[in-house]
Amino acid sequence: MIKQITTALFFAMTLISCDSGNKGEVKEKANEPQTIVMETNDPHTFAKPDEVVVKHLDWTANVDFDSSMIIATAKWTIENKTGASEVIFDTKGLKIDYVTVGNNDEIGTFILEPEIKYMGQKLIVSITPNTEIVRIYYRTTENSDALQWLTKEQTADKTHPFLFTQSQAILARTWIPCQDSPGIRFTYNARVKVPHQMMALMSAYNPTDTMINGVYDFQMEYPIPSYLMALSVGNIQYQSVGRNTGIYAEPSMLAKSVAEFEDMQEMVDSAEALYGAYRWGKYDVLVLPPSFPFGGMENPRLTFATPTILAGDKSLTSLIAHELAHSWSGNLVTNYNWNDFWLNEGFTVYFENRIMEQVYGADYANMLALISYQDLKAEMEDFGMESPRTKLKLDLAGQDPDEGMTSIAYDKGFYLLKLIEQTVGREEFDSFLKTYFDTYAFKSMTTEGFVAYINKELLSKKSEWKEKVNLNEWIYNPGLPENCPKIISDRFEKVEGELTKLESGTAPSELATSNWSTHEWLHFLRNLPTEMTQEQMIALDKTFGFTKSGNSEILAAWFVKVIPNNYKEAKPAIESFLVSVGRRKFLTPIYKSLITADPSKAAAREIYKKARPNYHAVAVQTMDDLLDWNQN
Ligand SMILES: [Zn+2]
Repeated sequence: MIKQITTALFFAMTLISCDSGNKGEVKEKANEPQTIVMETNDPHTFAKPDEVVVKHLDWTANVDFDSSMIIATAKWTIENKTGASEVIFDTKGLKIDYVTVGNNDEIGTFILEPEIKYMGQKLIVSITPNTEIVRIYYRTTENSDALQWLTKEQTADKTHPFLFTQSQAILARTWIPCQDSPGIRFTYNARVKVPHQMMALMSAYNPTDTMINGVYDFQMEYPIPSYLMALSVGNIQYQSVGRNTGIYAEPSMLAKSVAEFEDMQEMVDSAEALYGAYRWGKYDVLVLPPSFPFGGMENPRLTFATPTILAGDKSLTSLIAHELAHSWSGNLVTNYNWNDFWLNEGFTVYFENRIMEQVYGADYANMLALISYQDLKAEMEDFGMESPRTKLKLDLAGQDPDEGMTSIAYDKGFYLLKLIEQTVGREEFDSFLKTYFDTYAFKSMTTEGFVAYINKELLSKKSEWKEKVNLNEWIYNPGLPENCPKIISDRFEKVEGELTKLESGTAPSELATSNWSTHEWLHFLRNLPTEMTQEQMIALDKTFGFTKSGNSEILAAWFVKVIPNNYKEAKPAIESFLVSVGRRKFLTPIYKSLITADPSKAAAREIYKKARPNYHAVAVQTMDDLLDWNQN
């Protein structure tokens, strides 16, 4: 009845000759030259969207916390463009129970191929040229890496367990069998059953109250790529903060989150004034438990955010501006595949900076730009200036696309756009960007497509512009071009003045630090001397209370400075931070510092052993590699 074939020929089957008239068949003609073509231009999907592409998903799911499992049906509406006899989906870590084909739910035939590293398993379902519906009945497993199941002890309120997903880059396939490529968009409806007293939320039209029967219906009527599929389930409450903005959080975190993000509506209004209407209806933020591996994830209508941006003084809310900006750059106009990731992130850092400038002023935005520059320099030095990893356009075929999620896409991308802005003038650039977002709304964009578009629509307007910018050098060459804009920040210059005083012997308590924002403190911490004595660290800590700071950015920057100098007083705080916080941006530099202090990695591994169960799979993968975890 259900055919499940594993074949040793899976590799051969991925190589299709260019003249294959019969789809799915491997042709071999001895005397004709074989042209090997990729199935698709996205190296990270098995799908062949040029033949059969998904259009709409109806997802029915039961979220079972007892077994840490989602039991679900993915009903896909497909478009068969070529009369193909099979449709291909991406899956990873899923147990496929059976599939049905057509409106009458007739049992179908499928092949689930052996797993390929990073990519997962290709799911091939047999169809006819007229098939419009394919249903996949399946369940998630402990290898469904997008999902993090938290016990109630791992939440803020400790009353209910919690579940959240992180689908980007290619983890949507670990909880929904799908065509997992950012170049493929679909609409979706979902019906999700969760335990009583818990709320379910998705990247969709969301509820604001808990349903007594635990059943929730969702709708996303705009086509989105699979990496924006998101689900969260927990004891969650909602509060509106503006016309079309609101916050979801665990009850004990709600008031604090609302206070922190009170400028959110102003951010949305500023963003709309810059680049046109917000097209997704509501903009809400869900504050997650601290194990969330990223700062934020721009799931449409519902940004997922780390609680580590709750600093108590709104000083880390540029992250919200960033995720909001993705509603245009990324969610509306999407990178075609993960080699074009800078089109999502470089644009978003630029847009984020413009929103921050609008809401908090130019000197504030300049500090953020300089922090971005420091991150970029550090990453470039880490990779080496000649490393292909420092190119904007990447080649991630055969690698985990997560490898491309570095500061290069974000900060080198930002500086390229800043250069274009300075070259053509802000007014001209803004009008170009607005038209760009409009023209390609709900579409995907390749690097080459963008280069052709901007050359035609903007840079050819004046003869010297193309040469002044030199897009090719920025995009296709490694390193940082000479014409990278220089940002000047008066506020950072003042910080540098105080650092000079400190180094020439002035006591920390004598420094002029009043009214410093988090960013000035970060600039101060990052530029402290590499080597410090115990007495110096104690004096700084006594005066400024770094080890006891409630601000995670300050804590992380301080730890990175003092760990190599063996500052014993901070050890308990470092351990407790690493055990409770799962945000990879902090984990990587802190563990690296621990390794610098103890190259045997023993100290780092001792803490990691306790912390690892609290981390999401994407953080675990990075830290496992860093600490050689699986080799022991
Ligand atoms: Zn982003």
